[in-house]
Amino acid sequence: MKPTQGAPGSQTSLREANKARVVEAVEQHGALTQVELAGVTGLSPATVSNLVRELAAASVVSLAPSVRSGRRAVLVSLAAGEGLLAGVAFGDRDIRVAVSDTTGHILGRQRMPLPADHHADEGMERAARLVGDLVDRVGGRMDGLTAAGFGLPAPVDTVSGEVGSEAVLPGWRGVPVAQEMSGRLRVPVHLDNTANLAALGELRAGSLRGRQNACYIKASYGIGAGLIINGEVFRGSAGTAGEIGHVTIDENGPVCRCGNRGCLDTFVGSRALLDALAVSHGELTLRDVLNRTEAGDPGCRRVVADAGRHIGVAAAGLVNLLNPEVIVVGGQLARVGDVLLSPLREAIDRCAIPSAAASVEVVGAQLGEEAELVGALAVAAQLHSDARRVAG
Ligand SMILES: [Zn+2]
Repeated sequence: MKPTQGAPGSQTSLREANKARVVEAVEQHGALTQVELAGVTGLSPATVSNLVRELAAASVVSLAPSVRSGRRAVLVSLAAGEGLLAGVAFGDRDIRVAVSDTTGHILGRQRMPLPADHHADEGMERAARLVGDLVDRVGGRMDGLTAAGFGLPAPVDTVSGEVGSEAVLPGWRGVPVAQEMSGRLRVPVHLDNTANLAALGELRAGSLRGRQNACYIKASYGIGAGLIINGEVFRGSAGTAGEIGHVTIDENGPVCRCGNRGCLDTFVGSRALLDALAVSHGELTLRDVLNRTEAGDPGCRRVVADAGRHIGVAAAGLVNLLNPEVIVVGGQLARVGDVLLSPLREAIDRCAIPSAAASVEVVGAQLGEEAELVGALAVAAQLHSDARRVAG
């Protein structure tokens, strides 16, 4: 787009400034309805409607029919430019990859199992190969890839692009992941924690849409959180904010892999759940425990409910400190719904200050595993539009 420059303060310059506000709002929040755009930009619905019509005619934004709160609405998103984005999310046992156009619209996805004790080199090699295969499968070319978002289930220093803890993901110690992946894929790469990416994904397209202050808790093999403050992911001074798994629940509790005692992770991580069931149920996987919980097995239900209560105690601390509107619970454990969420909710009500506890909703995540990929593609889209702005 080549904006027509008017004199400062003229109708033309005001109109161009308002158009820029609309485009920035869609860049920051993803696709929005015109009513939502009016709310975010502070412009009147009539003004938004006129600007959107002009931006669509100039192919800056594209329009798609949608339904919001049961009513028909038009969804405004950035028009797809040239190029592809890649999102990569490492789980504790797998790698998931998605490729999208530059607006974040997913064109294809793929997953591959990963041994728990893999080394960083092996993980990055597999991730790069998966991205290459997938770009090929969607009919693209690697030189059409413009940016990638990369998520690891560990504390990540988003400033240096390295894993921020030596103990949590041992095979990745001291590896400059963002830089190495950038070398393998030949595009800029943003490295983040998967809980942050899932929070961002739910914020863009799931249960956190339109929320300003919120916490996303990922309860899976390990436990982590992503914090949303004033409508954005809060990463702290070095990117490791939200490490709820290493909040102390019992000062005299078991020693954690991080070196502390009685961290939340030592009570609700998969190891703790499986150990608690070993005598009565024998060798199980986390998936077995969740399947049996859904089937009504009393021992499995008890262990999952206790995990919910422990998570609630830690979440009550977040509620006191951040006063969020909503806590969204995702990850493998969230699959069992109220068996986990009810005791979690009760612990918040018991442990947080009453006014903060009363105002917080506790809900299950909407996007499931997809949230991390949506978030990874969103950070890639941001890298892409930053690069375009510098170039243009
Ligand atoms: Zn710990």
